[in-house]
Amino acid sequence: MGHDLSQDAEIWDDAYKLDRAHVFHSWHAQRNLDPTEVVTGHGVWLKYGDGREMLDFTSQQVNVNIGYQHPKVIEGIKKQAELLCAIGPDYANLARGRAASLVARRAPEGFDKVFFTNAGADANENAMRAARLFTGRDKILSSYRCYHGNTGAAISATGDWRRKPNDYSRGHVHFFTPYLYRSEFSATTQEEECERALAHLEHVIQFEGPDTIAAVLLESVPGTAGIIIPPKDYFKGVREITKKYGILMITDEVMAGFGRTGFWFALDDYDYTPDIISFAKGCNSGYVPAGGVIMSDPVAHRFDDIVFPGGLTYSGHPLAMGAIVATQEAMEEEHIVDNAYTIGKDVLGPQLTALYDKHSKIGEVRGKGVFWAVEMVADRTTKEPLDDATMKQIVAEGNKRGLILGVHNNRIHVTPPCVISADEATQGVEILDQALTAAGC
Ligand code: PLP
Repeated sequence: MGHDLSQDAEIWDDAYKLDRAHVFHSWHAQRNLDPTEVVTGHGVWLKYGDGREMLDFTSQQVNVNIGYQHPKVIEGIKKQAELLCAIGPDYANLARGRAASLVARRAPEGFDKVFFTNAGADANENAMRAARLFTGRDKILSSYRCYHGNTGAAISATGDWRRKPNDYSRGHVHFFTPYLYRSEFSATTQEEECERALAHLEHVIQFEGPDTIAAVLLESVPGTAGIIIPPKDYFKGVREITKKYGILMITDEVMAGFGRTGFWFALDDYDYTPDIISFAKGCNSGYVPAGGVIMSDPVAHRFDDIVFPGGLTYSGHPLAMGAIVATQEAMEEEHIVDNAYTIGKDVLGPQLTALYDKHSKIGEVRGKGVFWAVEMVADRTTKEPLDDATMKQIVAEGNKRGLILGVHNNRIHVTPPCVISADEATQGVEILDQALTAAGC
């Protein structure tokens, strides 16, 4: 017997009670969850169930790059819904073709084909599959400081705690990527960190056996792991090493792509070309789930005459494609990527750096565009991470003052939608300043 549906009717108007009764949430023990009800949003603002208007410094899962309820994206989804809501991946469909061409044109020369997925994890899953089939090799090398998604191979490629209870895929090896603030290589400058991290990677490749390695998979900016901006020459060095050993390079642009760093792709700020790019989140700001893999021509052509053994019922779902087309067009027309760049350079960068001068518990401020981390420490000399209770207090103090803050371990991630104005960014930083003071930082 199922449960009594009349109980649902009684609490039909109560989002909170329904949630607690029936929704099983991601990444949490369920008992003590206390989710906030959100009713609607516009731009960088969310309206809570209690009527409060909140300034969102998170973009949710760092995906709502174009902000909430963008009218052109809503219109694009509506138009597509009226025309065709569902069509299988084997057919040609105008929305899918246009979405593919709009995404591919943001990639480097020679990336013409897009395989659509439902999200970022399955984008990485298929990127790794393509690399393994292309090379005939098995292993994927990735960073300890990364997140690549919550499916079989993607979670095994992930470096953080989420891999450990889920680590059933074979052929994954981890290594350390540059992070000068907590250098694994005793480096004191970015140049040293870069050089030593590259030497470390080459040693790992040599010890693993180069002819067993299909690909090195790296986020162009490790996001969840701490918004750690790689040194200028790091990817160029990785490219040289991977070429030397016939290993492919997969760049994960799922979080960093589509304006987040003030560039269409974060890799645009570096001097290298990978073999495969994975994307999701910002491609349509999560209005309808979508992700994908952009393949360089040699990788795509490998499957001209042999079957690519991967597919999804919803690969290139028309509503998701309509949302991609509208998002890409609106981002271009409204210069949203340029806005993210300028906000980073002129507002968030200088203002967050000023907070460092004022609050002794800030260990480091780093980032670009609308992608910033404020790393909190108990002591600047020892760099001991600030305790969880104080981190929670900072979030609560921000919340009281109308600001939604994202916290990962001892870091505050400042990642507002790319459409944020200078005034809104300043307002948010002012509240963060007050929250830090109130929490004794
Ligand atoms: N790759 C990166 C860099 C991410 O940040 C994420 C999600 O946060 C993923 C992949 C997984 O994407 P999704 O949650 O859409 O599967």
